[in-house]
Amino acid sequence: MRPIVLYPVFSQLTALDGIGFKTYAFYKKLCGETIKDLIFHLPVNAIDRSKKVSLSNAEENKIHTLSVKVLGHNKPAKTSRPYVIAATDGTDTMNITYFSTSRDYLPELYPVGAEIVISGLLEKYNGQWTMLHPDYAVPKNKENEIPMHEPVYPLSYGLTGKMVRKSIEKALVRVPELPEWIDEHLMKQKGWSSWKDALVNAHTPTEFCETDKDRRRLAYDELLADQLGLAIIRTHNKTLNGRKFVTSGDAVERLKKSLLFSLTESQETAVNEIISELESDKRMSRLLQGDVGSGKTIVALIAMLHVADSGSQAALMAPTEILAKQHFETLSKFLEPIGYEIGLITGKGKSNNRQETIEDIKTGKLRMVIGTHALFQSDIVFDDLGLAVIDEQHKFGVQQRVQLSNKGKGVNILSMTATPIPRTLLLTAFGDMAVSRLSEKPKGRQKIETSLMNSSRIAEIAEALKRKIQDGSQVYWVCPLIEESEALDLNAAKDRAGYLKNIFGKDVVGLVYGKMKSEEKDSIMSDFVSGKIKILVATTVIEVGVNVPNATLMVVEHAERFGLAQLHQLRGRVGRGEKKSHCILIYQAPLGIMGKARLKMMKENEDGFLIAEEDLRLRGAGEVLGTRQSGARYFRLADLERDKDLLDIANSDAKNILAQDPKLESERGKALKMLLYLFEKDATVPLIRS
Ligand code: ADP
Ligand code: MG
Repeated sequence: MRPIVLYPVFSQLTALDGIGFKTYAFYKKLCGETIKDLIFHLPVNAIDRSKKVSLSNAEENKIHTLSVKVLGHNKPAKTSRPYVIAATDGTDTMNITYFSTSRDYLPELYPVGAEIVISGLLEKYNGQWTMLHPDYAVPKNKENEIPMHEPVYPLSYGLTGKMVRKSIEKALVRVPELPEWIDEHLMKQKGWSSWKDALVNAHTPTEFCETDKDRRRLAYDELLADQLGLAIIRTHNKTLNGRKFVTSGDAVERLKKSLLFSLTESQETAVNEIISELESDKRMSRLLQGDVGSGKTIVALIAMLHVADSGSQAALMAPTEILAKQHFETLSKFLEPIGYEIGLITGKGKSNNRQETIEDIKTGKLRMVIGTHALFQSDIVFDDLGLAVIDEQHKFGVQQRVQLSNKGKGVNILSMTATPIPRTLLLTAFGDMAVSRLSEKPKGRQKIETSLMNSSRIAEIAEALKRKIQDGSQVYWVCPLIEESEALDLNAAKDRAGYLKNIFGKDVVGLVYGKMKSEEKDSIMSDFVSGKIKILVATTVIEVGVNVPNATLMVVEHAERFGLAQLHQLRGRVGRGEKKSHCILIYQAPLGIMGKARLKMMKENEDGFLIAEEDLRLRGAGEVLGTRQSGARYFRLADLERDKDLLDIANSDAKNILAQDPKLESERGKALKMLLYLFEKDATVPLIRS
């Protein structure tokens, strides 16, 4: 149960004056639903209004605070025209201009002859000093009502800086003092203030500084909560009654023998790590990390087969239905020669033997199954689920893993990802997991040749496509989809597909996009897999997560809009067969310096790990984990680049804490529990050893 002192910070934003039903929706989009979300919305800059100069030596396009005398009003007949107030500070004249339609209050605000202090952006318009809608305008004797320093917040639709500032001020008043959870020595060493002081200071910067002490303290809180939560889960996992999945090893041996290839060294290592953990009484929570095409699927299958062979059940969850089906087909083929069966569960009513499959999972007759999310959510009951494999798991967070592993008698988890995850993220987003890494690709794969091309050369590229297709190869053509204008982007993709159909013929070009009906999508995808469709135009990344070894060209339009890790994953869709593969990154000129550098990096590098590090540096954790789109960010106060040092401290501190005070009973321990609640690690609290 969440401690009572935290209630005020967890109350809904509508509890604040000035946030009604409508603005609440805007705030929800901006930062979240509760007071805590709002107070963790930190400024990104500070306006300095302390500069007081006269008009004669003022600087254009800067924020200025001026003391002026009102000369007169020019009130136009039509409200569509601006309302102009003339003023002077003795050194020069200026106009104070309003475009707003409600202007009745202006004569009262600016009485002719009165001394007024205004603050805002000073511009030159037609050679005349102009201030459009001053941020502040007060009589001379109330000058001190203008804050000399003002935080600047990230905004979103429907909210102004003033609204957000006011709301945050009100929210801060409700924030309680909390007991200190940071280690005493660290506090001294860093010269940090208490939580509440740091929070208030961070919102009232006199001079904005990204690496400010108070911001760093708040970041540390977040990192510590994260690391402590993970340490608790890890400790808890160790205490769980593991189960030993023991077999004669015969099934796995037969499977390996029946393969047309032998496993790579790192596949062998991963298989051994996984199997020995399955055989031990430890419960497995493991991440299998391997670049696209490194052969994760077969490793997963071996793990599943081991569990099935021991008499328990294994399930593989794929992110999309198409991928689930493809996995089903590949794995069925692998299993056929050794006489094992695997089931497929897709969306309701799709396959006529769905009910039968469900029944067989329930009775345990079927010991391996593949499906989408539905596998773990709906009416599907396992006889005895021992292993859950999650493919491309970025959207599956720490909390979900805890929930999943608590299902049944203790589910072992194997997560697979192609995103080469930088160390900082391994410590955080995946900190509860052990890692197996596939560091090499199967032999015989060739380098993928990457070239950059200006979008003006589309016709040339189409020409190159002809050669590929005559060669019997297939092509992916990716058009980006950007949230803001989905319709427009979709049109662009449709146009592109149309263009290619004109050149190559209707039947050989297919288009898939996110919002498409899944049956339609499926049928096009399977036409591509079977080779009937030669060119697949796609708007989304996920849909092309399929394995088509015959595809040897990847074309990406507007490559500059993609993240590097994303481009790398796309590129990994080709180069899966024996033939030489190519990737063409089409960009829209002009590219900035940064854009050029990024694409050049893609061209010159095939090391997914390097690329991901770079991507993390440039775009932040949310993007690399693929959560940014959904609005969720992994950290909001910490910045993994800036706070790398703090992450290390938090990591070792969390371990020490649990070693010394495993039940979190000391004064500090109790404060730390509060910290866990504050950062919504509620699921970890019941796991604290009691
Ligand atoms: P990913 O890691 O991207 O999921 P897959 O598991 O889909 O990669 O493997 C890509 C392709 O490589 C598949 O066709 C798979 O059968 C093949 N493959 C896997 N392991 C090996 C190996 N050791 N030698 C040769 N081919 C392999
Ligand atoms: Mg895969």
